[in-house]
Formats: sequence, C-alpha cells, structure tokens
Amino acid sequence: MRTITSIEQMRRVLDEVRSSGNRIGFVPTMGYLHEGHLSLIRSARSDTDLVIMSLFVNPLQFAHNEDLGTYPRDPEGDAARASSAGCDLIFAPEVHEMYPDGQQSVLTTVSVPELACRMEGRSRPTHFAGVCTVVAKLFNIIGPCSAYFGEKDYQQLAIIRRMVGDLSFPVEVLGCPTVREADGLAMSSRNVYLDPAQREAAPVLSRALSLGAQMIADGQTDRAKVVEAMEEMIGSEPLAVLDYLDIVDASTLAPADPIHQGCRVLGAIRFSGVRLIDNMAPPGGTRSSVETADA
Ligand code: AMP
Repeated sequence: MRTITSIEQMRRVLDEVRSSGNRIGFVPTMGYLHEGHLSLIRSARSDTDLVIMSLFVNPLQFAHNEDLGTYPRDPEGDAARASSAGCDLIFAPEVHEMYPDGQQSVLTTVSVPELACRMEGRSRPTHFAGVCTVVAKLFNIIGPCSAYFGEKDYQQLAIIRRMVGDLSFPVEVLGCPTVREADGLAMSSRNVYLDPAQREAAPVLSRALSLGAQMIADGQTDRAKVVEAMEEMIGSEPLAVLDYLDIVDASTLAPADPIHQGCRVLGAIRFSGVRLIDNMAPPGGTRSSVETADA
C-alpha cells in the first residue's frame, strides 16, 4: 500500500483512477486507528473501486488548551491496519503541505454556525470550523468520491452533510454505525487517555444514552423526564462529570421538544481532562437522512 504526502501527486493519481472509470471511496481520519475507523474502510472497500484514507491530525480543529501535542499517533501501525481492512492508498500530508504559511494564517474558513453552536460547539466553539475547513480542503484535493464518516461523531456528520449540500461538493456522504467495546463504550482514539478506574466507569455514558433512547422508544415524549433520568445515571458515577445531554432532531439538530420520531440522543462527559462523546437513536425509531446514504 502506498502513502502519498503531496497534494499535487494525490490529485494526479486520483484523476488517473477516475479517468479509467473507477469509483473512489474516501475515509478521512486523524489516525491511531481502531475498529471504528476500520469499519469505515471496509464499507468503502465493499462500495467502491479504490479506497483512500487520509491521515492528518488537523491543528485547525484543536483549541489552544486541547490535546494537539499529545494526540496519539502510530503511522506505521495505522498503515498495516488500514491495509488489512482493504485500504489502497494513504494520504498523509505534513502540516506545512496543508497550511503552507502555518495554520494561523488561514484566512478562509468554512463554518455551519446554525448546526455547530449547540452541544459540542458549546464546549469547543472553534472546533467545527476547523473540521469543516480541513474536510473542504480534503474534498477539493480528493475530488469526486464517496466519503465515509462515523455516526460516533453525529454532530460532525450532520454538519458535513449540510456543508456538502450547501456548497455542492461532488461528494456522496455516507454515515456508518458506531463501533463499541464489549461493555458499550464507543471506540475512540482518545480512550487510551483513560486510567483503569476511568475506563471501568466510562460505559456510564452509553448506559445513560441507552436508557434515554429506550424511554423514548417506549413512548416517553417529555424531554425533561428523559434528560433527568439520564442525568441521574451519570450522577451515579462519581468519577464522571456531565458536560451535556441533549435530545435533538436527527437531521436538523434542533432541540426535540416535545420528543418526536426521528430524534437522536447525544451526550458528553468528562473524566479529569478526558472528554468522551456518544449518541444513539431510539431503538425502532425512524432513521434520519443524516444516517443513511441519500446523497
Ligand atoms: P477521527 O480519527 O477521530 O477523526 O475519526 C475519523 C472517522 O472515524 C470519523 O468519521 C469518526 O466519526 C469515525 N469514528 C471514530 N470512532 C468511531 C467508532 N467508534 N465507530 C465508527 N466510526 C468511528
């Protein structure tokens, strides 16, 4: 499997691939791959002819107080894992290739404030503009393709779908289900930051979201009651600090109040400096256009 680091070379190779009629599957990542990432590569493998994964820890989406410097990295292990899941090419640019004058001098950014201001955006106000800007750059480099994103980052998936629609990127966005550890914890590169006690406590988030999702599936439409029950469950875990719990429309991310069909339950908690996010659809509920391949 080949790793390409230059934008120009990447464009040349992919133009050639497309000119012979092959479909491109694209999986953007920040590396330190786990089964969640590999599931996206496998989906791309089964749908398309050439699978490319980007591996780029994007400084633009980290705030000054966040973990850019310590974000876990293992490029060689990533290449082996990606290849075994069916990846053909890795695009791994250096920061100066993506931001030649430094990320501080990027003057053009892409943002979707209406969808980015809630939930993650409250704790990480500059995060989604950094994500959208780098994803827009990657889409401009990779060109027409099917792009695979995890539902694990549900708000991100909704925002990218919107960006692609609003700006007419020639990209089909596909959402893939969250891959979990056996105890329910959503897989994440950041789970390695958890100490053993925190790791043991961490599934409280997926348990709380399952509880809320099940209450909704059972017919509860009172948002305050569902949130209260979830808060109580998070509160029962002394190591966990609640960041937010929310029930939103699965497509527009507007608050679902009262709760209606096609909603999504999302949440974030903290263990000291480690922040975990997760989300769920009520079992048996309608699937939204954010989750399914509809582009
Ligand atoms: P990241 O490397 O964290 O930027 O993630 C790259 C892609 O993998 C994003 O589309 C994530 O939503 C997706 N992803 C991360 N964790 C999971 C998971 N547990 N299950 C499915 N997809 C995931």
